[in-house]
Amino acid sequence: MALRLHNTMSSQVEEFRPLRDNEVRMYACGPTVYDYGHIGNFRTFIAVDLLQRFLRQSGYKVRYVMNITDVDDRIIHNAARDEVSVQQYTAKYEKVFLEDTAMIGIERPHLVRATEHIPQMAEFVARLVEKKIAYRADDGSYYFRIASFPAYGKLSKKDFSGMIDGARVDVDEYDKDSARDFALWKAPKPGEASWDTPIGPGRPGWHLECSVMSMEELGESFDLHAGGEDLVFPHHENEIAQSESLTGKTFARFWFHVRFLLVEGEKMSKRLGNFYTLRDLVLKGHKPSSIRYLLTSVPYRNQLNFTFDGLKQAAVSVERLCNFRERLSAGNFPAGSTPEMQSLAGESVERMKAALDDDLNTAQAQAAIFEMVRRANSAIDSGQLKAGDAAPLLAALDRFDEVFAVLNDDDAAKMKAVFQWALAEGREKEISTELRDQVQADQTSNVAIEGKIAEMEAARKARNFAVSDALRTELVSAGVIIENTKDGVRWRRK
Ligand code: AMP
Ligand code: ZN
Repeated sequence: MALRLHNTMSSQVEEFRPLRDNEVRMYACGPTVYDYGHIGNFRTFIAVDLLQRFLRQSGYKVRYVMNITDVDDRIIHNAARDEVSVQQYTAKYEKVFLEDTAMIGIERPHLVRATEHIPQMAEFVARLVEKKIAYRADDGSYYFRIASFPAYGKLSKKDFSGMIDGARVDVDEYDKDSARDFALWKAPKPGEASWDTPIGPGRPGWHLECSVMSMEELGESFDLHAGGEDLVFPHHENEIAQSESLTGKTFARFWFHVRFLLVEGEKMSKRLGNFYTLRDLVLKGHKPSSIRYLLTSVPYRNQLNFTFDGLKQAAVSVERLCNFRERLSAGNFPAGSTPEMQSLAGESVERMKAALDDDLNTAQAQAAIFEMVRRANSAIDSGQLKAGDAAPLLAALDRFDEVFAVLNDDDAAKMKAVFQWALAEGREKEISTELRDQVQADQTSNVAIEGKIAEMEAARKARNFAVSDALRTELVSAGVIIENTKDGVRWRRK
């Protein structure tokens, strides 16, 4: 079976096939690096990460590009407020974004920065002006004439027939009532960052950035364009208008939009006090793997209501999977294999794939793996699982984790990094006792590991190999990787 995905353009679930044989070219609108990313942003980024992981697992070569918006209205405003340059301001939040994506198990896409493509953006505007699709206003800004693109509204299914020709809008984000000629290029206002280009001084509008960078990286027509549902209008509608009126070709074939995350039943907002960045949750003592699990537990087009109860359940689910993996890996099972367990592993892989092929039904895929765990655990309990059954069951679990990415054992190190960041930023008041306890427990166990390694080395030097081997086995089975280097023994966690 092939992958079927919902396409916002057709409003239907369609079979997904790339335009070029085996290669998927996809683009996701990335962060505007003006603040810490919140869990709504990460619901979207994780959903797209999961999609690209699944495409690769299904045998496609994936070229996945994401932009970093490092100049826009909000950035310019905040940089001026903090009295720093735009570059200084965005460098901090770009670093934060990269750390956060790594923390939450997102494989790094090919990243492109808006400020590194300014000449191409100016040229794009010049070509639109040449075709009379764009025009220059008296102040030196350039606007897209939406009357020149009759298909305007085809993605958002809005009817713009009553709009006023020539009415304009300047801001990057606006609602549907402002369906007017939008700014492609903004002339500098006093004190604003700007670039000198052949079309005059200024800076690109947000929509232009994505059109130019996606086509530069992926070609004039590519397979899939992704973002949160709020981007359908005006951002993606404007990207389509700019790109298609210039090239005359379909810009992106599939439009993949992720439903907005709710928190405790409400739209997340600072005013309601239900606004959480990823780091806020870690400061409260929650593991990155639980957060990722929860954010993938509802299919991307369905409403996901984030709650702290849900987060606790997610932690239990991840732990159950980890325990199962340990149980199988440690296994002292009788020799042989059983047809039931062999086919259970195979069927589970197929059920997982069928679920994900069905418009990324992550909830069904998780249900399939838990059914496998439940049945295999009861086979272990009743002594029916054989040594030869462990490998295919573990392989099925690995396949699950190639896409879901929740079983890495590096939560402790990631939480410690957030702990240290909070200290460095003077935010120790926000560190919960839960996080403090976790980090301390980890440090205590580091001391214990180092103690055991010293004992092991002493035994080895005394040529007491039975003792040193036993200690090594104990450490390895506790997930410690031991390396002998010329400077002595080094260790790290798996
Ligand atoms: P921004 O940094 O604001 O440009 O947003 C980055 C991405 O996060 C975009 O794809 C947004 O559509 C998405 N996004 C913002 N808020 C939410 C939310 N509450 N739920 C899901 N996605 C969101
Ligand atoms: Zn975009």
